Amino acid sequence: MARTYALDKVRNIGVMAHIDAGKTTTTERMLFYTGMIRKVGEVHDGAAFMDYMAQERERGITITSAATTTVWKDHQINIIDTPGHVDFTVEVERSLRVLDGAVAVFCAKGGVEPQSENVWRQADTYKVPRIAFVNKMDINGANFENVIKMMHERLHANAVPIELPIGSESEFCGMVDVLNGKAYYYEDGNLNPREDVIPANMQDAYESARQRLLDVVSDFSDDIFEKCISDEADAITLDELKQAIRKGTLEMKMTPVLCGSSYRNKGIQKLLDAIIDFLPSPVDVGAVTGSNPKVDREEVRRPADNEPFSALVFKILTDPFVGKLEFIRIYSGSIKTGETVYNPVKNANERIGRILRMNADEREDMTEAFAGDIVSLVGIKNSTTGDTLCDKSHQVVLENMEFPEPVIKMAIEPKSKASQERLTNAIVKLQEEDPTFKAYTDKDTGQIIIAGMGELHLEIIVDRMFREFKVEANVGKPQVSYRETITKTAKAQGKFVRQSGGHGQYGDCTVILEPNPEGGFEFVNETVGGVITKEFANAVCAGIKEAAMAGILAGYECVDFKARLVDGSMHEVDSSEMAFKTAGSLAFREAAAKASPILLEPIMKVEVLTPDEYLGDVISNINSRRGSIQGIAPKGSMQAVDCNAPLSEMFGYATALRGVTQGRGNFTMLFDHFAEVPKSIAEKVTGNRSGR
Ligand code: GDP
Repeated sequence: MARTYALDKVRNIGVMAHIDAGKTTTTERMLFYTGMIRKVGEVHDGAAFMDYMAQERERGITITSAATTTVWKDHQINIIDTPGHVDFTVEVERSLRVLDGAVAVFCAKGGVEPQSENVWRQADTYKVPRIAFVNKMDINGANFENVIKMMHERLHANAVPIELPIGSESEFCGMVDVLNGKAYYYEDGNLNPREDVIPANMQDAYESARQRLLDVVSDFSDDIFEKCISDEADAITLDELKQAIRKGTLEMKMTPVLCGSSYRNKGIQKLLDAIIDFLPSPVDVGAVTGSNPKVDREEVRRPADNEPFSALVFKILTDPFVGKLEFIRIYSGSIKTGETVYNPVKNANERIGRILRMNADEREDMTEAFAGDIVSLVGIKNSTTGDTLCDKSHQVVLENMEFPEPVIKMAIEPKSKASQERLTNAIVKLQEEDPTFKAYTDKDTGQIIIAGMGELHLEIIVDRMFREFKVEANVGKPQVSYRETITKTAKAQGKFVRQSGGHGQYGDCTVILEPNPEGGFEFVNETVGGVITKEFANAVCAGIKEAAMAGILAGYECVDFKARLVDGSMHEVDSSEMAFKTAGSLAFREAAAKASPILLEPIMKVEVLTPDEYLGDVISNINSRRGSIQGIAPKGSMQAVDCNAPLSEMFGYATALRGVTQGRGNFTMLFDHFAEVPKSIAEKVTGNRSGR
């Protein structure tokens, strides 16, 4: 079966916005107008359907990247939902990687808010061409010109209106199309606008907007340039104009701006037109490069069906009916159900059970998928987010995504046996979906610990455990993941002897512990002459490891040390692996206590963006959090402050930064390294732990 839509008629787009700007409503309306859904659900009624996870609906924010396919004017549009919250920048980046173009939705009143600045810059980094939609033209305080101005000032975007709103706030009733010089009125009860002439009072505004548009696009079209300088601007055709805007947009030299009110069903058709007219197809984006997993060679994959298959797994979701869904973006080639593809990262074959296209909450079974498609696969076993799937005889690893270390953790205690089982199941499923979420059992307390990227991240995970997986549990407060290490060399003997009749226990070892900065754990057996067998030496190693997990000072894992087994003795009857394991633990505990143990804390790499005027306050706030400034440099209209700061001091930073910068500052935070906790603070941490 051949593909339904030619590759140049495919658009993979994201809708990005500050929370509350109307991303969900706009996406939903786009699906409505393209006929994918019949009923328009309202976000504030809780019926928004892109947010198909129950808890997202309640929070009214979109966290996961669902992908939805629709069709407009003989073009296939795949919409990849991008999350807007700062804790989810990994998710934002993940979706930016697989989309080709984006619609940036701004609120006509709020304009460019800090979060939009952040996402806008990420889109710059990933070279994603954009068009902008100024939404909520109907609300009090809506101001189209002001949003354009903010786009220039805060984003340094070459924002060029291709529509002008007719009226504003409650008077908003349609728009003037700067491309064809016509007015479109939305009249009550009518979903499609009525075309008319431009109202007299907007003629001047139209002419100056048209002139500005021509000035900008003259750079992208020789024909338009010629016509403009020879006073023949009237002879510029609509097609020439669209081609020039398309070129400027794809080169990221301009951002066409439209306006409307999604909620009131105004302006969506033109927005869809603009998506197909101005945003790139996979053909425009061109070839992707990756590495050959076998030889040191770059691999290139062109976006074409007859190229070897390559795709990137960008999202995993657990669907209550179908099971595990792997969302992939196909960069080259095609796949059929029943075929086997190869994952070079995991060195595993994967059989494609089903190929599904997600039409919001409906799914469609397909037999084949082609270059440029975004589909989800069922039946994939070993692949996780960020992996490449490819043709085994033409292997390629597309650039992998890096995921930061989780640095915040909390204890979770199921309330019943049934909940315990449900929790285990939830942990497995959620870890598959989210590579930044980790879980383990605290050896010391037996508690189940979940760890993630930030407070909100864990909060949402717990919420999903409760709702989707019906776990009933008590959760502790979020805590920093500390570590411990030793700073001196120390020696100790561990002896475990029980000989009170019958079969006894006998294990004896002497161990030297040495610091091994950033070298992890190492174990060397230096005993000679068979004082202990290899099996017993291994048991000593296991005992040391287990004791190290439980920590020395305050129960945090002891890392970066070397253990040398230098001596020991065996008893011909009573020695056992169990006894040597215990002896190893005893030796570790005694030696480690003598080896000047210290507490380590996660140090985060923080980038703060702030307008100039708040720079001083931002710096002193960072200093008060034990932060150290690494550098300050202008970034767009903002100042970027690079610093390192301990995670424990960064709780609540989002709120503090908002306060210091009147809401305009923004930051990203990633784990960087572990460093010693200053003595006075370490005492508090260890004191709290032992007092539990
Ligand atoms: P998101 O957080 O960006 O996904 O924003 P939503 O789509 O959830 O919209 C946030 C709120 O604004 C909801 O209550 C919407 O009904 C409302 N809203 C969205 N678009 C418009 C609009 O054009 N006009 C008005 N008046 N309200 C809107």
